[in-house]
Amino acid sequence: MSPSMNVLPPNRAVRLDNHTCPYCGNEKSEENPFTVEHVVGRRFVPKGALDKSWALIVKACLPCNNKKSDLEDDISAITLQPNLGEKHADPLLHAEAMRKAKGSVSRRTRKMVGESHEEGSIEGKMMSRVDVKFGFVSPPQLIEKRVHELAQMHLQGFFYLMSYNKAERRGGFLPGTVGFVANANRPDWGNPLLLGFAEKTASWPQQLDCICASGFFKMAMRRETEESTVWSFAIEWNTAHRIIGFFGDLDQAQVHVNALPELQWTRWDATSRYRMEVPIEPENDTLFSNRLPNEESQ
Ligand SMILES: [Zn+2]
Repeated sequence: MSPSMNVLPPNRAVRLDNHTCPYCGNEKSEENPFTVEHVVGRRFVPKGALDKSWALIVKACLPCNNKKSDLEDDISAITLQPNLGEKHADPLLHAEAMRKAKGSVSRRTRKMVGESHEEGSIEGKMMSRVDVKFGFVSPPQLIEKRVHELAQMHLQGFFYLMSYNKAERRGGFLPGTVGFVANANRPDWGNPLLLGFAEKTASWPQQLDCICASGFFKMAMRRETEESTVWSFAIEWNTAHRIIGFFGDLDQAQVHVNALPELQWTRWDATSRYRMEVPIEPENDTLFSNRLPNEESQ
């Protein structure tokens, strides 16, 4: 099996009549009925974002379908919130963020996402002269374990399509293990680790280039060489959160991880450290091709 799909068809949904669950591999049966599953959930992205866009619709078993909707619920609500102190310029997006803030519970704080801002402070001496105290409020936070679980399901859903065998009505599974390198919110997409990853994998043959839901979902998969056991991936959710990593042979991938720049933290005291976030300049942003699929057909 040689999965390969560089260009996705524009403007319409791909529907698979698959007989194995894309996520757990169980067969469809009378005891295990399948339900319709949007690999990028309709409610994960802003309302209507998938309407005129490419979409991947498969069938999945009920437990996997439910697990994924649950992961998408709070992760969508949190990633659709504007950056701290900002407001979405698009009135529809603003309304959507407000609605989700009141309609989804943060699994971290057990409160509504809109009430889940977190407070912290750093105290100490700055430049050994002045006592300072920084108070800060952070936006609602994602739980990393849930981020990894959902990212893995999104990756697997797309890999299932790339390796789909129409006659057998089944797709394949991600080779090896998924290893996460970093995830970051938009104000920090220019940090050296994310830039280093984009630079390292830029020349690797692209296996998947997906920008759908009006740009609210992006995924890229690359492979070190066409025969390599090392794949890289990048995912972006709701123009707010990025996740990068490798899958396949993680021992081999570790060599690449070791060569990536380290993030420089400044130690504040024995228990705390800090680092300034680094925004990305649009001209340096090469992680995704930034082409919508429907632009490719023109
Ligand atoms: Zn399943």
